[in-house]
Amino acid sequence: MTRIASHRGGTLEFGDSTLQGFTATSKMALEEVEFDVHPTADGAIVVHHDPTLDATTDMSGTITQMTLAEIRKATICYGAGSHPLTLEELCLLYADSCVGFRCEIKPGVDGLPYEDFVPRVISVLQHHAMLERTIFSSFLVRSLDELAEATDRPRLWLVSPAVLRQLGPETVVEVAQSHGIAEVGVHVDTADVALKELFVTAGIDFGCWAAHTREQIQKVLNLDVKVFTTDRPTLAISTREAHRVRVSA
Ligand code: FE
Repeated sequence: MTRIASHRGGTLEFGDSTLQGFTATSKMALEEVEFDVHPTADGAIVVHHDPTLDATTDMSGTITQMTLAEIRKATICYGAGSHPLTLEELCLLYADSCVGFRCEIKPGVDGLPYEDFVPRVISVLQHHAMLERTIFSSFLVRSLDELAEATDRPRLWLVSPAVLRQLGPETVVEVAQSHGIAEVGVHVDTADVALKELFVTAGIDFGCWAAHTREQIQKVLNLDVKVFTTDRPTLAISTREAHRVRVSA
């Protein structure tokens, strides 16, 4: 069965990386909650998509240059009053959930990985007994290399449409293999049967990201990909259930 990852806690249903989105997702009949992490100036780890607060909250500022107390003053847009959470708070929220973590290691505003960040993320997950329930993802091969040095947990390379186009699928396979990456995810609109077969034949698991419409969700279910992220987890669950009933009929 294709796995569903609730992207940022279901952005289109609950706001971007909000308490209510993560709380709702923790009780849903799906397999993963996707989230992104950034370091604060005073050593905390914040769960937020962007490296700044500018686009998604009522405040502005760069997370890595702000204290946790400052960041907590931000209210997330369309988030029913929610403030950015810490990784610790997310761990506590999922302690008794059946839903696993899909943790994306994000770069800073300069597009480069944060220095010595990966071991700190792993340490928090380990401390809360969530590491063994975590799959990691990143667009950055360097971050995936850092993860490999620090943990045996699965790593998933997010391949953007631009990288897929510029490198070409065969080179993406070569890069994945040379970095010991066992799984890739591509944007749903760049996925097709031939691309999936290329990766699967090379022994690389294949998934999609950004399946937000009913058509995109149905596409990834028809492709029978391993996993997909979606901003609409409730829609994904009902679409998958209808698909399952149809296929088994
Ligand atoms: Fe992400």
